[in-house]
Amino acid sequence: MADAHVHDAGEGLVPVEEARERILAQVAPLQPLELPLQEAEGCVLAADLVAETDIPDFASSAMDGFAVRASDVAGASEDRPAELRIVGRALIGRRPEATVGGGEALRIATGAPIPAGADAIVPIEDCEVVGDRVRVLRPVPEGKHIRPAGEDVRAGEVLLRAGRRLGAPELGLLATAGFSHPPVHPRPRVVVLSTGDELVPPTQRPEFGQVRDSNGYLLYGALREVGAVPVMAGIVPDDVEAFKEAVFSHLLQADAFISSGGVSVGERDVVKAAFFKRGDVSFYRVAMQPGMPQGFGHVEGKPFFGLPGNPVSVFVSFEVFIRPALRKMMGRRQLYRPEVTARLEADVTGPRDKTQFARVRVRRTAEGWVAAPTGGRGSNLIATVSRANGLAIIPPGVETAPAGSEVRVMVFRPTED
Ligand code: AMP
Ligand code: MG
Repeated sequence: MADAHVHDAGEGLVPVEEARERILAQVAPLQPLELPLQEAEGCVLAADLVAETDIPDFASSAMDGFAVRASDVAGASEDRPAELRIVGRALIGRRPEATVGGGEALRIATGAPIPAGADAIVPIEDCEVVGDRVRVLRPVPEGKHIRPAGEDVRAGEVLLRAGRRLGAPELGLLATAGFSHPPVHPRPRVVVLSTGDELVPPTQRPEFGQVRDSNGYLLYGALREVGAVPVMAGIVPDDVEAFKEAVFSHLLQADAFISSGGVSVGERDVVKAAFFKRGDVSFYRVAMQPGMPQGFGHVEGKPFFGLPGNPVSVFVSFEVFIRPALRKMMGRRQLYRPEVTARLEADVTGPRDKTQFARVRVRRTAEGWVAAPTGGRGSNLIATVSRANGLAIIPPGVETAPAGSEVRVMVFRPTED
């Protein structure tokens, strides 16, 4: 994020950076849980894990062939093969049938444990089997084609440190090491409420003046993208009791709440009315466009984010405040989107006293990153966000960032998508 520009913020407006710091200071990583590997996928490890055994924990053959003593075949050649007695077999998943003494060999499969007494594997191509004898045509050095125990990890070594996110290789490693329920910070379950008497679900044709609930679905997507678990609580009318009921009835399922709408000063601003007196959620104005009115606090210890109603405000507020907070709750160390410096392809005009987050499409060119604005700055224009892949940060004090000037851009999705 660009500089805070604290002193440029308008009267009564909280600078963006300060609003975000306040929120981040009030959320903490969720209590670790021991989750089965499939559920732990994508979560952050909450403790160092130490290998209890060597990995692999037994020496095995890397080839199909014969387990031998290297000293028995040291002089072998095609003209003068070393002849050994076959004393049994070593199959995968089993204890070898016999040990290997002097002048003896055991037939062995790839992956089978090395029998005691053997110290090398002769590949099948270098052998001729005659009855219960094997003629070895070439010498092998000691240790050849043997995967030793502990080659990958030694017992007592740290397998993974706290803070590591469990992706595909980590899940494979933990399964190998027998950590079937690693301690991780779980994915936050986030209850999503859309407030407004005018709202109808997208399955319904709106009557005149009604609006389909966009924010609920926008937030669903945003929550899934960050790795949280959305709990869709649906549309809540502009009624304080109904709103409180909707919040409290979801308390057990929630690690956090997000509501949209009803945080301004209108008489029907239900979220504000519901919490105003309780004092556990504060409402304030952030020096940003879009997304100026915001609410944040805790309900029964669960973070509560009260967002404004317009869909672009919801998207930008999620990116700027909620996404970093949820990443902190998930134990992630890097909280923010990557940023690039890009050259604007057109003027971007915004309010002088606020940080403007302008929807842009960035792309990389031979001359570096360029950013094309995707449309107007109205906070109801959701299509302008769907055309964008970044938010250009136009700091307070700048009214017009002219075409050709450089801006910082938060990139919110892969630029090739
Ligand atoms: P509010 O902050 O509740 O006054 O809402 C501001 C604007 O956003 C109004 O035009 C609302 O109709 C619109 N709005 C509020 N919630 C939603 C929603 N869930 N989906 C789409 N538009 C909404
Ligand atoms: Mg409303």
